[in-house]
Amino acid sequence: MAKELTPRHIDYAKWYNDLIIKADLAENSGVRGCMVIKPYGYAIWEKIQQELDRRFKETGHQNAYFPLFIPKSYLSKEADHVEGFAKECAVVTHYRLKNAPDGKGVIVDDEARLEEELIVRPTSETIIWDTYRNWIQSYRDLPLLINQWANVVRWEMRTRLFLRTAEFLWQEGHTAHATRDEAIAEAELMLNVYADFAERFMAIPVIKGVKSPNERFAGAEETYCIEAMMQDGKALQAGTSHFLGQNFARAFDVKFATKEGKEEYVWATSWGVSTRLIGALIMTHSDDNGLVLPPTLAPIQVVIVPIYRGREDFEKVNEVAVNIFENLKKAGIAVKYDDRDTHKPGWKFNEYELKGVPIRIAIGPKDIENNQVEIARRDTLEKVVVSQIGLTDYIRKLLEDIQETIYEKARAFRDSMVSSADTWEEFTRLLDEKGGFISAHWDGTSETEERIKELTKATIRCIPFDQKPEEGKCILTGKNSKGRVLFARAY
Ligand code: AMP
Repeated sequence: MAKELTPRHIDYAKWYNDLIIKADLAENSGVRGCMVIKPYGYAIWEKIQQELDRRFKETGHQNAYFPLFIPKSYLSKEADHVEGFAKECAVVTHYRLKNAPDGKGVIVDDEARLEEELIVRPTSETIIWDTYRNWIQSYRDLPLLINQWANVVRWEMRTRLFLRTAEFLWQEGHTAHATRDEAIAEAELMLNVYADFAERFMAIPVIKGVKSPNERFAGAEETYCIEAMMQDGKALQAGTSHFLGQNFARAFDVKFATKEGKEEYVWATSWGVSTRLIGALIMTHSDDNGLVLPPTLAPIQVVIVPIYRGREDFEKVNEVAVNIFENLKKAGIAVKYDDRDTHKPGWKFNEYELKGVPIRIAIGPKDIENNQVEIARRDTLEKVVVSQIGLTDYIRKLLEDIQETIYEKARAFRDSMVSSADTWEEFTRLLDEKGGFISAHWDGTSETEERIKELTKATIRCIPFDQKPEEGKCILTGKNSKGRVLFARAY
């Protein structure tokens, strides 16, 4: 069968890539590291966008749009920020092409060199804070709560569809506040919005925490993150929220008059999630038969496949199928009736399984006689025969149950992938034999963190918020540690 996938235990990376291609989510493009998101993949992104956008607005944010290009001098204004992003910037140097002297094609016109080079935004703090200088004068202008939906470019060397691409789609929130406490509260609030969204909407369990200095966003004072666990035991950073202190306000001279009439620098946050979430979705739930989608995100929640031999059969089956279709549609369920006679039912079953449609309803002549339908759920692959009476209610409850079941399954797996280690031997053995998150003591220095990364490829994913303080000894150096951190090999 052409659609067959490489099983996960044979080659997880190949399974992931094949699945994206075969389920028609995305494909590689002619541009290195950049992907084409196909309609089925984009429909999932739109669902992610709509729900996040709703949650951003509910928490008081508004959307705006800023330029794609950032003058090079802007990027240099915040020292840590430019250092962090310099190695992965796409730079525009010219604004015109001309005909090649040999008549073959076009070349860059050297006379059309830009006076100041432009960077294709890797993130928009600089251009936005340059703008905020004009928007913020007094405490009355604060807080400023803005989000932008955009594409960004980071010249990544090793790319992978959705998880890490050179150009990616995302949203970036950029907020301005009168006090440090208010900005920290905002960064925490948005991390909670992300965590709740990941768990309830995407059915992806996450661990909330704070990044170590090495993994912190360039230009931030503190980076909060949500970390997810993929089925192959590798961690994935699924979202970040940064407390930026007054770094960008100082760099762009953004001050405000306080109630007391004093001048102070503005406090900032930024936060973002990207199309990487679709990679997280695939790697959390899908199986060797294809995608498994939570009903909240499935572009098609229910598919109806008629089963018939001749014209007469079809007419009988069709009448009932159309009726069920109409009832489900009226109930607000995303239902598709696949009555194409160009494909056999078996082919359709495979196709919708591959595409992760949560529920399949099959109806044949026998079902018509008995007033029943056959229902198959994608997550467990279980099949049941149920009555046509009360079917809409049954489906509605089943969708809720599927959402819950796949979340619980992912959570049980994630929980089984959190271990703790007290010695270096234990730590490396767990990493090699099991993977997952390993909770271990660390002496708090960047040098040790880097050394552990060199030796094992594991990084500190986060210092979990719910971690209790605990005295211990660093697994590498044996020096004192005040608490455990979560290590993992990560995407
Ligand atoms: P950052 O601005 O670095 O904190 O990243 C914001 C969000 O974008 C995080 O959730 C990252 O996981 C995600 N992200 C960072 N780099 C990439 C990339 N190359 N492709 C897709 N998503 C990314």
